[in-house]
Amino acid sequence: MAKRTAKPTGKKNEYWCIWVLLLVFCIAAVTAFAGTCAAKSELPQGVGQILTGEAFEAVKHRNSALIDYAHLTANADFPRTSNISKITIHHMAADLSLEKLGVSFGKQDRKASANYAIDRTGRVALYVEEQNRAWSSANFENDDMAVTIEVANDRIGGDWHVSDAAYEKLIALCTDICRRNGIEELVYTGDPSGNLTTHRMFFAQTECPGPYLESRMLEIAAAVNANLQHGA
Ligand SMILES: [Zn+2]
Repeated sequence: MAKRTAKPTGKKNEYWCIWVLLLVFCIAAVTAFAGTCAAKSELPQGVGQILTGEAFEAVKHRNSALIDYAHLTANADFPRTSNISKITIHHMAADLSLEKLGVSFGKQDRKASANYAIDRTGRVALYVEEQNRAWSSANFENDDMAVTIEVANDRIGGDWHVSDAAYEKLIALCTDICRRNGIEELVYTGDPSGNLTTHRMFFAQTECPGPYLESRMLEIAAAVNANLQHGA
């Protein structure tokens, strides 16, 4: 008799275990889904999108009025933790359109970005708002203090030349960044102690920003400082 009554109880126990396992699985799935949604919702509005209309005007107002295009990337820290006190200049090592660079920075596995870029015609794009830390210079501390700018090359290789239009816009953008962020003077020392820095100062294996821009760093600082002093 004892054996006959034991069998159904055993099956009941088996079903009970399956239901508990199913319940645990459901709870885990719901928790994982909620976690993913929460992580996505932590990103500021507009990130991952090409901005137009009012959204574009809003980021233009919060950042540089010189921008022509905005495609915000999730490859950044939101927000940066240091005050803006530096500018870091990069070159693209390519002649990309602002749209193509935006697609490239949009790839999250690439883990790269910049606050701004300038194409060979002098158009300016925003990819990471100034209040956030772009992933540009292989150096957390520098990127946390710096607004970073990518400049397109109009010659590939060699001295990695950039066009006059891009160069002139770089001066204008640096001036605007200094003015809005209370940077009174740009100082290029050739090492990270100055507040005009380059990628190569933090990552010896890169040529960035290339010999052409690097040879003009003192000139860039002088032109920006003249603008700051004379209100140009
Ligand atoms: Zn670089």
